[in-house]
Formats: sequence, structure tokens, C-alpha cells
Amino acid sequence: MELLKQRILQDGKCLSEGVLKVDNFINHQIDPQLLMSIGIEFARRFAYARATKILTIEASGIAPAVMAGYCMGIPVIFAKKSQPCTMNNALQSNVHSFTRNNDYTITVNSDFIKPTDRILVIDDFLAYGSAANALINIVEQAGATIVGMGFLIEKDFQNGGKMLREKGYTVESLARIEALGKDLIKFCD
Ligand code: 5GP
Repeated sequence: MELLKQRILQDGKCLSEGVLKVDNFINHQIDPQLLMSIGIEFARRFAYARATKILTIEASGIAPAVMAGYCMGIPVIFAKKSQPCTMNNALQSNVHSFTRNNDYTITVNSDFIKPTDRILVIDDFLAYGSAANALINIVEQAGATIVGMGFLIEKDFQNGGKMLREKGYTVESLARIEALGKDLIKFCD
């Protein structure tokens, strides 16, 4: 998606060890116009999939997922990073964060995913694929079907996309980064 790539080149900052900072338009301050364009693009790319719900992870996945859900006319569920004491029917899975070098548990109320649901997974970044795998695991526990996975930014060199595509998932990434370094952001195409 050209608009997103241009914005990454303009405002993205590469931190150490392959981490891209996009917190002035996606991860902290949010550009709603750009995010709506992203929602429209996801809706276009996954129009064929007949998704019934979108699943993402708080916090950074919520904005793009809501925009896509609005464009597709379907509800959005976000996995929580802590389990609220009000939740009884919890589906849980573990995520390893390479950016923060820690593990955490994500939780989704099983009331919100039924075996008949066709789930579109959306997240801001695809790196090694641990967050994506945890979302897949939650959908499997619910007995529902994943019909696609969409990411704003995929870091190809961290191989999460390769792993998901080899497992047979349809992965759409709006900006695929081949190489990331000091003063270098190189896209795949
Ligand atoms: P993965 O689980 O695929 O290794 O990493 C995906 C998750 O880690 C995303 O939900 C995202 O929040 C975070 N993440 C991974 N790489 C980056 C990055 O380069 N920049 C930022 N801001 N977050 C990242």
C-alpha cells in the first residue's frame, strides 16, 4: 500500500535490532485518515473471505481492526493482555515478545467466538509470528475458522510471514520490509 509505505519512509524511525518505531501515526499518536485508508484496503483485500468477525490484540491492533471492521460491517474483538476478574469463560494463549523480551498471556471471552465464526486476524506488525500464533491458538480453541490474516507492516527478515504462509494461511501485509537499519528502510517491492 503506497500511502503507508510513504508514511513509513517519512515518519518511521528504526530503533536497534530491527525494531521500527511508528508511534507518531500508528502506535501512540494515531492518524485517523491513514487508518481509515488502511481499513478500506483490508476490506478490499479480504472482500472474498466472508469474515464474520475480526480478532486483534490490544492495544495497537485495535485502531486498524476497528477501521477494517467498520468498512466490512462486522464486529471487532481484541484479545486482552490481562484477564479481567469479570471474565469467566476465558480462552487463553501465550505470546513471546521479542521487542520486549518477555512472555505474556492473552485472553478472549469465549462468548465472543463461536464455532461458526469466520475470523479475520488483524495486527499492526508481523515479526516472528508469536502474537499471530497465539491468536490462531485462541481461534482453534473456540473451534472457529481463520479466513485470513492482515498486517500493516511485515518484517520479512524475521520470518513470521514465511511460517504463517507455510501453514497455509492467507497473509496480506500492506507494507513488507526486507531490510531495516540505521537510516535504512527497504521495502520488498
Ligand atoms: P511477533 O509476535 O510477530 O514477533 O511480533 C508482533 C507484535 O510485536 C506486534 O503485535 C507488535 O506490537 C510488536 N512488534 C513487533 N515488531 C515490532 C516493531 O518493529 N515495532 C513495533 N512498534 N512493534 C513491533
